[in-house]
Amino acid sequence: MISPSSLIMAVDSTLSSAVGASVSEKDAKALQFIEEMTKNVDSVQERILGEILSRNADTEYLKRFQLNGATDRDTFKSKVPVVTYEDLQPEIQRIANGDKSPILSSHPISEFLTSSGTSAGERKLMPTIHEELNRRQLLYSLLMPVMNLYVPGLDKGKGLYFLFIKAETKTPGGLLARPVLTSYYKSDHFKSRPYDPFNVYTSPNETILCPDSIQSMYAQMLCGLIMREEVLRVGAVFASGLLKAIRFLQVNWKQFAHDIETGTLNPKVTDPSVRECMSKILKPNPELAAFITKECSEENWECIITRIWPNTKYLDVIVTGAMAQYIPTLEYYSGGLPMACTMYASSECYFGLNLKPMCKPSEVSYTIMPNMAYFEFLPHDDSSAQDSSRDSPPRLVDLADLEVGKEYELIVTTYAGLCRYRVGDILRVTGFHNAAPQFRFIRRKNVLLSIDFDKTDESELQQAIENASVLLKEFNTSVVEYTSYADTKQIPGHYVIYWELFVKDAAHAPTDEVLSQCCFQMEESLNVVYRQCRVADSIGPLEIRVVKNGTFEELMDYAISRGASINQYKVPRCVSFTPIMELLDSRVVSKHFSPALPHWTPERRR
Ligand code: AMP
Repeated sequence: MISPSSLIMAVDSTLSSAVGASVSEKDAKALQFIEEMTKNVDSVQERILGEILSRNADTEYLKRFQLNGATDRDTFKSKVPVVTYEDLQPEIQRIANGDKSPILSSHPISEFLTSSGTSAGERKLMPTIHEELNRRQLLYSLLMPVMNLYVPGLDKGKGLYFLFIKAETKTPGGLLARPVLTSYYKSDHFKSRPYDPFNVYTSPNETILCPDSIQSMYAQMLCGLIMREEVLRVGAVFASGLLKAIRFLQVNWKQFAHDIETGTLNPKVTDPSVRECMSKILKPNPELAAFITKECSEENWECIITRIWPNTKYLDVIVTGAMAQYIPTLEYYSGGLPMACTMYASSECYFGLNLKPMCKPSEVSYTIMPNMAYFEFLPHDDSSAQDSSRDSPPRLVDLADLEVGKEYELIVTTYAGLCRYRVGDILRVTGFHNAAPQFRFIRRKNVLLSIDFDKTDESELQQAIENASVLLKEFNTSVVEYTSYADTKQIPGHYVIYWELFVKDAAHAPTDEVLSQCCFQMEESLNVVYRQCRVADSIGPLEIRVVKNGTFEELMDYAISRGASINQYKVPRCVSFTPIMELLDSRVVSKHFSPALPHWTPERRR
């Protein structure tokens, strides 16, 4: 409990004075930090770049560009190239193979973070250093002080968060490779976090740290049900994760009701530490079991979140970017609870936070914290700056110099040794908090389809279609045109591929079995993250919808009627616009689904 004497009005904080909230001393410090960082964006950025360059001056990578000890922005910008993951792959591979010399960073690379972005079908490996955990934790520590400004009383209950660790592997040189959140949840920063009444979770650490995701989900949901009246917020990192939990409840509620009625844990949960911690929480409670049975056995699951967790004030999930497709479904299950998108982060670097977390999803803007890394921006609409040739580095803009309304691609220089690295996110500046620009997440470059953590680009889709259409050859059939759609109306969502076929001999057309095999072949061809999501049941079987001949011509006519130029018209490789979907769906002649799970193991191919 915070004593009244420790409640202060942070008069000098524009954040708290804007909402007129009283804040605790601890929160006031965090808010003050945000104010300082956002007021002094440019000088903080200058200092951060200076620190990174001086500490990494003797790395093989930076020595290559002959900075000769310079740590200023002009020298850096004129000598160091803007790069992509592919440019750094040789260095990353050497580190992965065990080369411990200072290649990218003077501090030892402590592990690799596996990004959900892919390169040549495999996950990208992002080098990180131990102290980055402190930076990530610092950003996490700012989230609740901001939230407390808008939602009072969060210390009076708990958060039901579905948090998971994922498979980790070792590189040939023995470094761990795992997702950034797995690294964080397994760190002492998370495991031994000091008690904070504003950050109490229903899930005990043992359930989050259970490597079997089904047992983990089971135990976390069970805890959430048992503590239903204490739950004040419900969340997961991304919207897709929360919807997966709802589906899990839909499938397993009878077993949950049984466990709660009898006070015994489902024997399928075998992890000893989960069993042990659940034995302290699970007691027979027939009344609660009857309540769950009553609510979950109803056909209609509208508002299920607020029915089961009636004190929920908001959902804590990211619904920006690719996750926006889940907003209607979450609104349905939650009866329109606010959805808080609190932060913007990646495996390369944690970027920033949303200073108005209770705003509408369509209005979310993230403020990049200038202490996290050195940030530069490639104007996205400036075609002359698109090409990042090594000889003439493109004109990049600093964080403090961005213009409202313009779109930029984010480029980072991190303490772990990524220099002028293209993250691949396109952001639009919507305004400023003090001197710090605020960004709407627009999209990720080159991503066509995404359901969960998967990101499929145009060339991957094209390759998958080429591989699948090999099966059509013996039927004298070819794919004339195609487009795709991420169907998230059901949980889990799935990829839909529309095919227009040219069948030479109608009497010998490919059968349903062949077209189903084409679906499977496509899945086998998609990248490792897609296949992992399929195996984990967070993406459903890929579907091919064969459309009537002439459908894609109609699609072009439609686009031209809406002002597209005939000369420049290209078939959109991904569609979501309702009239186009309606046109396509009205021309479907047959539907086919992948009959099996694609191959996936945690090991890398190389
Ligand atoms: P990963 O490298 O797998 O951690 O994925 C990081 C990427 O996820 C970012 O570069 C963004 O494209 C996306 N992302 C992360 N946070 C958000 C957010 N708050 N809103 C939209 N997209 C996000």
